[in-house]
Amino acid sequence: MDKKKKPAENKDKAKTLLPFLAAALVITVLFNALINSYKASLQEEISYNDFISMVENGEVESVEIQPDRLMIKPAAGDGSNVVYFTGLVDDPELTGVLLENNVEFYRATTEQMSPFVSFLMAYVLPIVVMYLLFSLLMKSASKKMGGTMSFGQSRAKVYVEKQTGVTFADVAGQDEAKESLQEIIDFLHNPQKYAQIGAKLPKGALLVGSPGTGKTLLAKAVAGEANVPFFFISGSDFVEMFVGVGASRVRDLFQQASKQAPCIIFIDEIDAIGKSRDSKYGSNDEREQTLNQLLAEIDGFDSSKGVVILAATNRPETLDKALLRAGRFDRRITVDRPNFSGRLKTLQVHTRNIRLSEDVDLEKIAQATAGAVGADLANLVNEAALRAVRLGRNAVNQEDLMTSFEMVIAGSEKKGTVLTETEKRLVSYHEVGHALVAALQKHSKPVAKITIVPHTSGALGYTMQMPEEERFLASKEELITELTTLLAGRAAEQLVFGTQTTGASNDIQKATELGRRMITQYGMSDRFGLMALSEEGNRFLDGNSMMNCADATAAAADNELVKLLDSCYNKALELLRRNRGLLDEIALFLLQKETITGDEMMAIIEHPDTPALPA
Ligand code: ADP
Ligand code: ZN
Repeated sequence: MDKKKKPAENKDKAKTLLPFLAAALVITVLFNALINSYKASLQEEISYNDFISMVENGEVESVEIQPDRLMIKPAAGDGSNVVYFTGLVDDPELTGVLLENNVEFYRATTEQMSPFVSFLMAYVLPIVVMYLLFSLLMKSASKKMGGTMSFGQSRAKVYVEKQTGVTFADVAGQDEAKESLQEIIDFLHNPQKYAQIGAKLPKGALLVGSPGTGKTLLAKAVAGEANVPFFFISGSDFVEMFVGVGASRVRDLFQQASKQAPCIIFIDEIDAIGKSRDSKYGSNDEREQTLNQLLAEIDGFDSSKGVVILAATNRPETLDKALLRAGRFDRRITVDRPNFSGRLKTLQVHTRNIRLSEDVDLEKIAQATAGAVGADLANLVNEAALRAVRLGRNAVNQEDLMTSFEMVIAGSEKKGTVLTETEKRLVSYHEVGHALVAALQKHSKPVAKITIVPHTSGALGYTMQMPEEERFLASKEELITELTTLLAGRAAEQLVFGTQTTGASNDIQKATELGRRMITQYGMSDRFGLMALSEEGNRFLDGNSMMNCADATAAAADNELVKLLDSCYNKALELLRRNRGLLDEIALFLLQKETITGDEMMAIIEHPDTPALPA
């Protein structure tokens, strides 16, 4: 990334280089000595007399005349590789003798290497080669060990994108968040404008929202709109097994970023390092050091240069207060789950490059997906496109979208599971129990679809209710209706088969959660009135709430909850008992068709074969 080495690093380098040089020198000297002695063992000096007699006996094949000696190659057949040599003697008859005995002879034509070059070759070159090999090895070793050899260098973990290529047009909805971020973009475009007046922009903004709502996407879009580099790192990347690594990564990140200012640093999952240092969440030296370093860097850098830190979390309540103090992440931008129009826009953004057939009604999909986040919708569209390809069509139709909706929201349809006839009847009555009780009450969401086709999520069937409009508030009556509907599955099993199955466990779980919230948070019980008995744990994940009252009160609240659930269950049971004819008729119809729509059910309710029992 950066070529220039910091001075501190150079010192470190020198420290490792000295012993290395010494070792390399020793190796080279030894090696050269070895080669020389080997060469010497292959050469034998003889007297000039012996040489002449060898020539005359025909024992010499060739002679090389060198400046200071004669190299004598003996005739083949003596087996060894030994070469003889003898000093030069001023012998005018030598040529004649050699010619007479048919000995090949020549003067060495190749220049002898100058001593300097041969020194280079023998000593310097090997050391250089060794050094290169050594540093290559170190590099690959440090890569394998995940940066443990090169402490503090976050090269492997920081991702910098020169240009994200994402703009606000790619982010559907989230208008409020975009508006808050607009100022940051302006600032990045023109830091001087703000500096001149003396205005200080916040150094960082915290994006708060559930996973998949598009926080990363928004941050990238800010970088894209401002046309500045985007540094991405995840909080969990900072937390390593070695104490001090996280802190030096933070230092390194800010160093690299300030070199490229103006730019954006995006820290995903900041809660991984920014957790409150209170003992409540457990403490950890490494994380604390990292957090301290982060705080120091945030305070230390000069915001007029144009470095903006965006951080994302879905657990703002766990963050250390120090992070949220003025001058740090004091600006909080909520990234909500999209409402109907947001979902529609998200679907439109993601279907931009997808061929849709005429029958596609995105509004309907948007309506059906209340509660889904942007990532779900992106996934839904992609699954639909994959399905269209699988089925050999060249455009996505509404059925693809609906099917992939069920897959994304309810898990894929399970083709392999075969239910026994009895199980099927049970599931059918269970689901119709939910649907019928929903239809028979006021304040309930209309039923869109009932199915007994098993899904991979484990649900053996389900009843899909679709709100007519987006709702943000729920009244007590509506919540009671929902509780009654949730418990009606079990009520149908009990009423028709006189038995209780495991199929209701999810319903019971949901009903219990809802009921507990009504009593402990929404002030909807007569017994406790307006007193809040629990604290909401986490608004953005469905975290558990914490009871916040005396143990005796908590026990009493549990009793109250049992009563509430009981009364709702009995209400469901009563409704089904009175409409037993309808229950049977719809359940049988569902058993035949496996999947029916809400409209089909309403048609039966309006024109039943058997009239309802009198109240
Ligand atoms: P987060 O960081 O909040 O967990 P991401 O930004 O990683 O969520 O979103 C994941 C994906 O979901 C994005 O890449 C994008 O395809 C899609 N997405 C989420 N929100 C939106 C949105 N508002 N508009 C368009 N696409 C979205
Ligand atoms: Zn159920």
